[in-house]
Amino acid sequence: MPETPDPEVTDYVAIGAGPANLSLAAQAEAVPGLRGIHLERQREFAWHPGLLLPGAVIQISPLKDLVTPVDPTSDYSFPSFLVSTGRFYDFLSARFPAVHRAEYNEYLAWAARRLPTVRFGHEVREVHFRGDHFEALTDHGAFRGRHLVLGTGGTPAVPAVFREHLGERVFHAENFLRHEAVLPGRRVAVVGGGQSGAEIVRHLLAAGTAEHIAWVSRRPGFVPLDESAFANHLYHPEAAREFFGRSPAERTVLLRERRYTSDGISESLLAEIYQRIYLATHVEGRTGFIDLLPGYEVVGAAAVDDGYRLTLKSVDSVTSLDADAVVLATGYEQHPAPCTAPLAPRLRMADGAPVVREDFSVEWDGPDEHRIYLQNGARHAFGVADPNLSLVAWRSKVILDSIRDATGTRPKGSVTP
Ligand SMILES: Cc1cc2nc3c(=O)[nH]c(=O)nc-3n(C[C@H](O)[C@H](O)[C@H](O)COP(=O)(O)OP(=O)(O)OC[C@H]3O[C@@H](n4cnc5c(N)ncnc54)[C@H](O)[C@@H]3O)c2cc1C
Repeated sequence: MPETPDPEVTDYVAIGAGPANLSLAAQAEAVPGLRGIHLERQREFAWHPGLLLPGAVIQISPLKDLVTPVDPTSDYSFPSFLVSTGRFYDFLSARFPAVHRAEYNEYLAWAARRLPTVRFGHEVREVHFRGDHFEALTDHGAFRGRHLVLGTGGTPAVPAVFREHLGERVFHAENFLRHEAVLPGRRVAVVGGGQSGAEIVRHLLAAGTAEHIAWVSRRPGFVPLDESAFANHLYHPEAAREFFGRSPAERTVLLRERRYTSDGISESLLAEIYQRIYLATHVEGRTGFIDLLPGYEVVGAAAVDDGYRLTLKSVDSVTSLDADAVVLATGYEQHPAPCTAPLAPRLRMADGAPVVREDFSVEWDGPDEHRIYLQNGARHAFGVADPNLSLVAWRSKVILDSIRDATGTRPKGSVTP
């Protein structure tokens, strides 16, 4: 892995090497003559390492991997990983209902290691447009590309009432494993009724070391993920395109209505939590170890004694909850990475979000032959599937085809799926 920057201007510079830009890198490998560089701040690949909890599984088919949906013959597919690590038949015989996140992380790391254009330990501090190319500045120097692809992922969402308390005992779920050691013997509040909140509650129940668990969710109940066939259809490319064609008002309504096709909790996890609570209560005879608090929003947080007093509001009451530690399983927001600040004033915005075209490039005041593409930054334009893994391969294919059209390297007649 060379540590020196490439003095030449490549076809594109991509920032971040999570699943989105790894898919781009894997597909770009198969394109003769195309040159891109992918810069990642982590020293080695890790997929949300703070939430790699034992037993956690992915919520999609592993065939929706980095490449298979658009190029099933690629060397970077999940089946190719199974074969080359000598576990193909064992994997089939194991018949897991879902692939463990630890194994999917291993697959992604395996792909990342084999991709020569991915540079780890390269945090982009700033990115500028220099008239005929983009320039990404890192501690290892500048990297230049005719186009820019942003794949820096979501930003952990921290409710305003918790911002002043962030620290060792109030932290976002993204950092759970880094802080877990402070939880034994303490009253732990888990805020958030989505998949991450549920995984953390299951983990705490299994460990059995917290003095008390309070699980707070704004939602009226602990709502299951809708994984039915027609819901899954919303995670197909044609559904993303159909959503793109809707008016802003329709998009807002559809995003709200379709929320639980991505934000709910998988049914098997809900059942497991329920069963653990049942066994602890009715078989082991334990009481008072957990409070389930759906339908409550945390509207206040104050430091008291050695802990925190949370103010909880439901539709008809206000109550308080004392906790020694708070885990914020409050999701992620799609914000541009801080390193893109020099470009921010040049983007065309509508309702606080960049205006995104059908090829995932944003409208900006620079020349059209130099484009800025957004990976996982256009939920407002492409719908609920955008932050998800389902369309990672398709979206990268759309972006690569657009770059190849601009650079004249796409064969005539080739079709984007
Ligand atoms: C715990 C968890 C589990 C999930 N499980 C699923 C699932 O099962 N199915 C599903 O469909 N979706 C899932 N998702 C949602 C989504 O698929 C993932 O968040 C996915 O990782 C998004 O990929 P990404 O590449 O867009 O972003 P990320 O994976 O967040 O990658 C972004 C990368 O950019 C890097 N970066 C950021 N800034 C810079 C910079 N300035 N310079 C260089 N590098 C930078 C980061 O270090 C990071 O590696 C899950 C999300 C979480 C949090």
